[in-house]
Amino acid sequence: MTDAPKLLRSRRTKIVSTLGPASSTKEMIRALLYAGVDVFRLNFSHGTHEDHAARFKIIRELEKETGKPIGVLADIQGPKLRVGRFENGKVMLHKGSTFRLDQDETLGTTERVCLPHPEIIQTAEVGCRLLLDDGKLCLIVRKVGKDYLETEVVVGGPLSDHKGVNVPDVVLPIPALTKKDHEDLRFALDMGADLIGLSFVQRPEDVQEAKDIAKGRAWVITKMEKPQAMQNLDAIIDITDGVMVARGDLGVEMPPEEVPLAQIKIIRKARKLGKPVIVATQMMESMITSPTPTRAEASDIATAVFEGTDAVMLSAESASGQYPKEAVTMMNRIITRVEKDVEWQKMMAANREHPETNTADAIVAAAQQICDTLRLPAAVAFTRRGKTAQRMARERPNCVIFGVTPTPEVGRRLALTWGVHPCITEKGDDPSCTAETIIHEALKIVHELNVVNRGDSIVVVAGMPFGEAGSTNLIRVVNIN
Ligand code: PGA
Ligand code: MN
Repeated sequence: MTDAPKLLRSRRTKIVSTLGPASSTKEMIRALLYAGVDVFRLNFSHGTHEDHAARFKIIRELEKETGKPIGVLADIQGPKLRVGRFENGKVMLHKGSTFRLDQDETLGTTERVCLPHPEIIQTAEVGCRLLLDDGKLCLIVRKVGKDYLETEVVVGGPLSDHKGVNVPDVVLPIPALTKKDHEDLRFALDMGADLIGLSFVQRPEDVQEAKDIAKGRAWVITKMEKPQAMQNLDAIIDITDGVMVARGDLGVEMPPEEVPLAQIKIIRKARKLGKPVIVATQMMESMITSPTPTRAEASDIATAVFEGTDAVMLSAESASGQYPKEAVTMMNRIITRVEKDVEWQKMMAANREHPETNTADAIVAAAQQICDTLRLPAAVAFTRRGKTAQRMARERPNCVIFGVTPTPEVGRRLALTWGVHPCITEKGDDPSCTAETIIHEALKIVHELNVVNRGDSIVVVAGMPFGEAGSTNLIRVVNIN
């Protein structure tokens, strides 16, 4: 545990960072962790199972090294439509030229590429749009062949391997989880992923299907990236374990002006239910090739923090960009600065959700009041399945929340939750454990992590009898002497 104090974040909003070719060595992943990453994302749209397993192994080694539970988010591709690969990995498409999408698996050129989705070719009509690479390029179908589409490039640009294809003009007959998704999901769960990202969800049933497969082994994070999902937002947030504002695809299928409103709506709903929410995509886009962000990107991150999101996310910036470490460092700096500001504190207080009518919520609401009134440095929440720590976080207290759990899997999931520093304890299963033992354990943790000085107090929240999930009924203010 000697390195742990370094990894005790001085901010509440978490950082999710995607690993990829630019961030696969142990040195780089360690550097990202120390720069501020709380949850690593393995993107199953790219790379092989071996690639993901190798990164996963490194993450778990670093977890041992630092003693800090680290979350792993396995992001399942879903029925995302993508082009195949190109001869040199990339081509340039020019406006006005003809480009063909076919079923031929050979590497693509400036004239053609494989589109391994017969559904699109069967459903597309002359005149419909194909949007490529998060809508950066636009093709219009001019001719529909038996196994190919001939298109005209309306908006050109560079196109590289496996870039996404959106077809906003037609309804495609595609299932929620493809054959590849089923295989990836099984692989990710067997590997020990803590969080599963579920892409292109349209209906709550899609979420239920993944939850039935996960069977509680991981939390399901539903990616909101379809207008159809936005129409089912309440029902989806009700059953999912967490959500992601997947602005990349959401912003392709929805007009840009709708995206910020969708973002705040998703965050509000998730916060109301106390479920973690991630704001994702293009947060530091310019840092893929530049060592500093644009001012608009800095503002975008600040806005998400002000809105009270649990986490912000890096995609290509950390997976394949030139400045992965700088991107994490910059994100960390922006969040830390915002959270120091009195405007942020006012915003958190103004948007606090009301406790629900149950003992656990009454206890955590009281803990928040005590912490903020007395300006305490820490609240320690003993939590078996993570629920008490999540409810405590829902109160958005202005102090670090130690989510203390006997289950490493729960600790890793909590790495995503706003303000929670997960700690694994050996105590926590024994129903004969007394309140004094619990408080002793809480004091040990805050001392080890150096967050208290003589004369400080902390708040401890737990359930008695100890080890029984859902029994939160104890609150104590403890002096440090
Ligand atoms: P993706 O999801 O990066 O897997 O596409 C995020 C998004 O669409 O914003
Ligand atoms: Mn997406």
